[in-house]
Amino acid sequence: MNKLDTALVTSALKKAGFSIAESEKGADVVLINTCSVREHAEQRVLSHLGHLKHIKKSKPNMVVGVIGCMAQRLGAELLEDKTIDIVCGPVQIPQIAELVTKALQEKKRAVAITGKIRQESPENEALEEFESVFDSYDKQIPGQAFVRAMRGCNNFCTYCIVPYVRGPEVSRPPAAIIEQVKRLAGEGVKLVALLGQMVNAYKYNTNGKTYCLADLLYMVSEIEGIEWIRFVTSYPTEESYGQILKAMADLPKVCNYLHMPAQSGSDKILKAMNRNYTASKYLELLDKAREIVPGIAIAGDFMVGFPGETEEDFGKTVSLVQKARYKNCFVFKYSARPGTTADKRLQDAVPQEVKKRRNIKLLAVQEKISEQLAKQFLGKEVKVLVEGLSKKANVSTCSEKGYQQLMGRTAEDWIVVFDGPVTLAGKFIKVKITRTSPLTLFGEMS
Ligand code: SAM
Ligand code: SF4
Repeated sequence: MNKLDTALVTSALKKAGFSIAESEKGADVVLINTCSVREHAEQRVLSHLGHLKHIKKSKPNMVVGVIGCMAQRLGAELLEDKTIDIVCGPVQIPQIAELVTKALQEKKRAVAITGKIRQESPENEALEEFESVFDSYDKQIPGQAFVRAMRGCNNFCTYCIVPYVRGPEVSRPPAAIIEQVKRLAGEGVKLVALLGQMVNAYKYNTNGKTYCLADLLYMVSEIEGIEWIRFVTSYPTEESYGQILKAMADLPKVCNYLHMPAQSGSDKILKAMNRNYTASKYLELLDKAREIVPGIAIAGDFMVGFPGETEEDFGKTVSLVQKARYKNCFVFKYSARPGTTADKRLQDAVPQEVKKRRNIKLLAVQEKISEQLAKQFLGKEVKVLVEGLSKKANVSTCSEKGYQQLMGRTAEDWIVVFDGPVTLAGKFIKVKITRTSPLTLFGEMS
């Protein structure tokens, strides 16, 4: 979501005459797009601001803006730090060019956030317009772009800050989404990822019809030039699930990939988190997905150390991970977020070292599963959308002249590393897998 907002803000500022600076030192304006999901993300922003304060000593006219969720959460409080000139929440990003221009020309500091974030805001219209005018294709990953299907969230998982900083759930009009995807296809985008906090809850009523995510998938599939479609993130619920999986099975362009966070394997903890399912219901949903879409790759999110999580509860999470057989999963240590129900009612009592131990253990359990799943690709040929240089491109030595170590992903989101010319970025190629590690497939172009 933040990457998408960054792309839109960049596009809006470019249209207003700005260009991207090489570094902070050479910039007139520095904008930090922020995340509030965990305290650690906010701490990184604060330490970055410390660094900017230092730069600003020799460049007092440099404008510094904090945008996104942390801006919405802390508002005017952020202006106590004299380094900051602009505070702009996620709903106010359509005002960004104006805010930056004013700060530069009039040396005015400004806060633009929503007062009553849980009320449907008239600013949503401006947001819709902003989204449809500006471009979410920033070419950071050639050939790929994000498209928002939904804003906000109404789910109120007790640990989560998102409903308080991104506001109520709003599905975007299907016509606007389709228009946007067509434009992206015209710019050479091949993979679109439809985004929503509970993207499977997408619902839009117009002309006597209710559109759901499956309808969107059918419509986007018809767009020429788009070859792969993903959607993230899915909430484990029965509603619309069958239709979405059927669309995935029917439509070759829809990637066989589902990101469906479980958060915990203990029903007691799931209840305390206000997640409306049990561990067994969650596993049933995975079975259904595998039955309707054979070969589907599933990814999960888990949180360890939620208040009240005992060793027994954690054992249930380990057992769920063993049964779920994810392609990969993301594990986070619970971080108390001010204003959330969990923070108000429960004590963050699981010690940091216990959270850390559980985090490491869960990742180790998953690693074994990922390793087994990865091995199934040995000797096989996979279709890959090339993203660009691999992380180790600078240290790897390639035998063939002009080749570098590249990376891409399969439709099921497996990371594939191979040698090739960097001009392949944004293109589809075939790679024969010769070696695997738990999270990466290595191979040769065929
Ligand atoms: N909407 C998605 C969903 O419901 O699964 C996820 C959105 S959240 C921004 C991404 C992940 O961050 C969650 O799946 C959760 O595991 C983690 N997360 C959210 N709040 C957290 C918190 N307070 N502490 C630690 N991790 C958190
Ligand atoms: Fe947060 Fe839950 Fe909404 Fe996901 S569904 S954004 S975890 S409140």
